[in-house]
Amino acid sequence: MRKTHLIKPVLGSDYPVISHGKGIYLYDKDGKQYIDGSSGAITCNIGHGVHEIAEAMWNQANHVSFVYRSQFTSEAAEQLAEKIAHYAPGDLNSVFFVNSGSEATETALKVAIQYFQEQGNLTKTKVVSRWTSYHGITLGALSMSGHKLRRHRFTSLLEDFPAAHPPYCYQCPLKDTYPGCGVKCADDLESSIQAIGPDQIAAFIAEPIIGASGGAIVPPDEYFKKIREICDRYNILLIADEVMTGMGRTGKMFAMEHWNVTPDIIAIGKGMSAGYTPMAATIVSDRIMNVIESGSKVVMSGHTFSANPQSAAVCLAVIDYMERNNLQENAESMGQYMINHLQRLQWKYPLIGDVRGKGLLCGVEFVKNPITREPFEITSKVTDRLLSICFDNGLLVYPAVGGVTGFSGDSILLSPPLNVTKEQITDIMDILDQSIGELTTQLITEGIY
Ligand code: PMP
Repeated sequence: MRKTHLIKPVLGSDYPVISHGKGIYLYDKDGKQYIDGSSGAITCNIGHGVHEIAEAMWNQANHVSFVYRSQFTSEAAEQLAEKIAHYAPGDLNSVFFVNSGSEATETALKVAIQYFQEQGNLTKTKVVSRWTSYHGITLGALSMSGHKLRRHRFTSLLEDFPAAHPPYCYQCPLKDTYPGCGVKCADDLESSIQAIGPDQIAAFIAEPIIGASGGAIVPPDEYFKKIREICDRYNILLIADEVMTGMGRTGKMFAMEHWNVTPDIIAIGKGMSAGYTPMAATIVSDRIMNVIESGSKVVMSGHTFSANPQSAAVCLAVIDYMERNNLQENAESMGQYMINHLQRLQWKYPLIGDVRGKGLLCGVEFVKNPITREPFEITSKVTDRLLSICFDNGLLVYPAVGGVTGFSGDSILLSPPLNVTKEQITDIMDILDQSIGELTTQLITEGIY
């Protein structure tokens, strides 16, 4: 008898079979309820089972589901591009559709290199990024990712792009303290540029708030202003990877709006479709598009499913739902409510070293010693333990580990759908409270803590 498999993230582990979802809740085949405290992978921004989205899918499918982008455009794709560009800051008026966040950042990389090539500048082919970052799993995107765990098997195939220190105040890589430090981590970009040579560098890429590799690390307010100035000084494009932070997650449509800094390229994904279809995009400024338009006229990227009308109709319906339900505002107020709760938990549990975030992208970092900020040993698997305890207790949280240079780093992201209510946040916090209590007992019993 032939044995066939769906390849699971961890081979040999049991994954419950999901039956359906509604709002912030998911239900497995055995009837167990889970609160989606992480919107899956910070994706399901409008919650599960929204009827209007299913209707939009049905309507578009009844007209046309697929056209190839080299042959046709579609009303849905045109409208979606217009909608996204309308929200984008500055002159970011052009939108290129892809299918995943990795493709969106990789397209950003290619567009940046092409921008210089079109002007006859063939040496600017590197992209500087930061240690403690994640920009995607494909080789170009991984080259830009300062995520040691995900890089190490493929280093021979990767460009060594990460160079600058991240603005990680809680565990400052420069062993300094804000605000006295003068935000030296931003100046570190300048040192990296000088070390590599500005004539080699096309762009600098950064997540506005570091997500998967560090747990909602928010930079100091001055950071991105300094970064923008440095990029301009050396004729280097600024790419904002808003795959996780974009589309309202942090209380603004794009997280860079928190600091009034306009990048040259923005990558989005995840919340753009809220998980109802695979869809992502690269948003490009007029400054860049004008050069390509008066040059080769072709953005040298693209996939079979790019600008898929079916997916575009879904994303339009998602944005429409967000607008009608004021989800950006809700993300801001509920995010603050959640941070207040988390700070109360911090008083209760000394292993909570740091609580941080913006809007509904909140992070909690766990440490062995809150005074010295000494992390747990990587072998203690503190994040894995907490994830599994929360899961058993019916709460989904997202691990943000493995991306930090020089120490293990145990962090989780809490990021429920943007239409979460106060009562639901209280329920999430109750389960988290109980779960951290169980974790503490477990760590003490095993002599780890
Ligand atoms: N950039 C960031 C900031 C991300 O958080 C992620 C996914 N966690 C990606 C890129 C890659 O997106 P995808 O998994 O859709 O390829």
